[in-house]
Amino acid sequence: AAKSSGTPLVVHTAELDECAEAAERLGADLRHSLDDGDFTVVYQPIVALRTGRVVAVEALVRWTHPIRGQVSPADFIPVAEDNGLIVELGEWIMRTACRQFARWRAELGDTAPQYVSVNVSARQLSEPGFPDVVAGILMDTGVPAAALLVEVTETALFGGGVAIDAVESLHRAGIRIALDDFGTGHSSLGLLRAVPVDVLKVDKSFVDEITEPGRQAVIVDALIHVSNGLGLRAVAEGVETAEQADYLRELGYDCAQGWHFGRPVAQPDFGAVALIPART
Ligand code: C2E
Ligand code: CA
Ligand code: CA
Ligand code: CA
Repeated sequence: AAKSSGTPLVVHTAELDECAEAAERLGADLRHSLDDGDFTVVYQPIVALRTGRVVAVEALVRWTHPIRGQVSPADFIPVAEDNGLIVELGEWIMRTACRQFARWRAELGDTAPQYVSVNVSARQLSEPGFPDVVAGILMDTGVPAAALLVEVTETALFGGGVAIDAVESLHRAGIRIALDDFGTGHSSLGLLRAVPVDVLKVDKSFVDEITEPGRQAVIVDALIHVSNGLGLRAVAEGVETAEQADYLRELGYDCAQGWHFGRPVAQPDFGAVALIPART
């Protein structure tokens, strides 16, 4: 927010200090919580728009702070990235998600989702040996490389070199790569040529627009063409209504994810989602 001209600079500085202190405290709490087991992983279904089948799940971390209760990952992931804890936390998340996914495969056989999607931050990607850590987790849990989808953001890859090398190395090992929040970061289209990508996750902000009065589905329409043209799979994020789901299917989207199909929970229902008929 813009400061009024009369606001003394000291107030501004004090606010910044307070902010830095709060982040530091939160960082220390993250450390304790990692040791105390205050984190869990929840799973949100990713659904095939033609069949209603749950084809995949995205793993999302949850933190129950001992005093503050639920803290949003949008608030603590950046702190964990800054203080480096995301490396250890992220490894725990991936191991937990792969272990759970292996259990579902064993229990459900053919009706289990085909892959598990795990978010990986820039800091993890640039950690030397990260691809070996992932390979070790797949080995330990018995999850095949092709059943793991690693979600990275454009911004994480924007820094270049090391992160892109890691993505290439994961891809060579047979792990699939998704570009998360697609369309909201830097240099989206150029990145698609520089990095081996399998899945485009089209950001919720574009999905929201398709049913807003006065707006059109120009971007989601363009992105499905880019995706198809490059032989990628598109997943629309943040689908909250049947109308949006219907529209996306008509545009040619294969898969979607959002509250309309299911919220992230510890044990999702893997029965097919009832689809409403497409408009005629
Ligand atoms: P994201 O990767 O883009 O994840 C999608 C977010 O949208 C999730 O929020 C999910 O709960 C929420 N969402 C899903 N469907 C809908 C919908 O229909 N409507 C609305 N309004 N929201 C929906 P969440 O779990 O709070 O995570 C927020 C962000 O925090 C994630 O965005 C991701 O950037 C980060 N994050 C979450 N879990 C992890 C993790 O395990 N590792 C890392 N590195 N980052 C994570
Ligand atoms: Ca994601
Ligand atoms: Ca996303
Ligand atoms: Ca996001």
